[in-house]
Amino acid sequence: MQASEKSYEVRNLIGGSWESGDGRETEPVYDPATGEVIGGTPLSTKEDVDRAVKAAQAAFEGWSKTPVVQRIQVLFRYKMLLEEHFEELRDLVTLENGKDAKDAGGEVRRGIEVVEFACGMPSLLMGESVRDVARGIDNVSYRYPLGVVAAITPFNFPCMVPLWTLPVAIGAGNAYILKPSERTPLSAIRLGELLAEAGLPNGVFSIVNGAHDAVNGILEHPGIEAVSFVGSQPVAEHVYRHGAAHGKRVQALAGAKNSMIVMPDAVLDKAVPNIVSSAYGNAGERCLAGSVLVAVGEVADEVVGKIREAASAMKVGPGYEEGSELTPVIRASHRDRVRSYVDLGESEGAEVVLDGREPPLEEGFFFGPTILDNVTGDMRVAREEIFGPVLSVVRVESLDEAIEFTNGSSFGNACSIYTENGAAVRYWRENVEAGMLGVNIGVAAPMAFFPFNGVKDSFYGDLHATGKDGVRFFTENKVEISRFLSEPGTTEAVRLPTESGA
Ligand code: NAD
Repeated sequence: MQASEKSYEVRNLIGGSWESGDGRETEPVYDPATGEVIGGTPLSTKEDVDRAVKAAQAAFEGWSKTPVVQRIQVLFRYKMLLEEHFEELRDLVTLENGKDAKDAGGEVRRGIEVVEFACGMPSLLMGESVRDVARGIDNVSYRYPLGVVAAITPFNFPCMVPLWTLPVAIGAGNAYILKPSERTPLSAIRLGELLAEAGLPNGVFSIVNGAHDAVNGILEHPGIEAVSFVGSQPVAEHVYRHGAAHGKRVQALAGAKNSMIVMPDAVLDKAVPNIVSSAYGNAGERCLAGSVLVAVGEVADEVVGKIREAASAMKVGPGYEEGSELTPVIRASHRDRVRSYVDLGESEGAEVVLDGREPPLEEGFFFGPTILDNVTGDMRVAREEIFGPVLSVVRVESLDEAIEFTNGSSFGNACSIYTENGAAVRYWRENVEAGMLGVNIGVAAPMAFFPFNGVKDSFYGDLHATGKDGVRFFTENKVEISRFLSEPGTTEAVRLPTESGA
């Protein structure tokens, strides 16, 4: 990547060549902390997608036939390069997304863990076998890569989300095309440069930058077998339906509205900093952010008071400044959208007990910490994803009511509970409709070896990203049944179930 004084050239990677925008229309890339333009994302066309697919198809031929133990050597080298460039990647994430160094470092670390997971691909690709399904007949399954696959990723984790699927897909032998968020394309470019340095053959990894035209080009292209999408709910639904209509395997991870249930016995001194970090960390722009606090019984006044105190004291500032706790949102237009939700909540009858609508800093896209109290389940601010530093507070009388409120959401990404009561935790786990659960943990972080398990409108598809689900998503089985007729003494006895009438 060519960079000078915070100015970056955003290029596509096709067949191993980095291509400049070549006069294409561009979307500005900003430093959200200052509002300064630091680059322009070329809006690629369907023709660009087609060229990338052709190059990927050519590369797939050799890569899929490269033994898996050799393929993972690239991933081992990649892991070492990512470690060497850890701070650089972290700072790039902070620059283009705005989040602080701790959050940015956290996402790079979680991404590297997927590379480590994928280094175990020889074990992960193991099929299954049963000998003697009939006398002298064995049954075995083998896993094969699909071919050319693609991923479409969001702005809020520009390094981690591409790494949720990239190492798994290529480790399994696929050729992979990435369409990063047009708002945060820089980390992906660095990931691609390092992958080339790790020795990945040209064309196995491609980047096609752009927005909806590039996405639709991917969804409609007959040469792409599978699409992994992460982003907002309406786009996830479009990608799922449109991709499936074009015969593709699709997984689409979508938006969220996550409850944090605080029980009366919660250890508040430790819970409150955790709740504040979940609601306001990364400016509330996490799909696992706790965006609704559901306070059970008499704990409500105390917990809201403590959160208000802690949130008001947060230091607002750029992610790259030491000590910043509340960082900017991604765009000025997004800040306006967050503000309009706070206005809406107020008009719906919620009480704005902490008001961040007045920009706390002159420069950049900052929004102050906000709390909407006395929110009820019929309000839009209780149900729609705001994706900013806004916490809605719902007051209920029992755990049953808290679960009922939570299950009234169309989303099911995550839910947290704060309590020391094991029976309450078990009851909650058995009854709550959410796929990622946190017990005294406000962000139920996705780990590489488990699936990222959103449910309801937070996920479209069958196999989730990461973990063994991820390996299955990017592979196809061949199931073989076999016998050998010259085996001494068995020929007569060997009968397929159908032949013997079974
Ligand atoms: P987004 O839906 O706006 O964009 C995601 C991707 O879709 C981008 O690459 C973008 O170019 C493309 N896109 C946007 N509009 C499109 C359209 N009309 N047609 C075709 N493609 C389009 O999402 P975002 O704002 O970048 O990311 C934030 C969202 O992602 C939030 O809703 C968040 O909850 C969700 N998210 C979910 C998860 C998860 O694991 N469930 C993880 C991270 C983010």
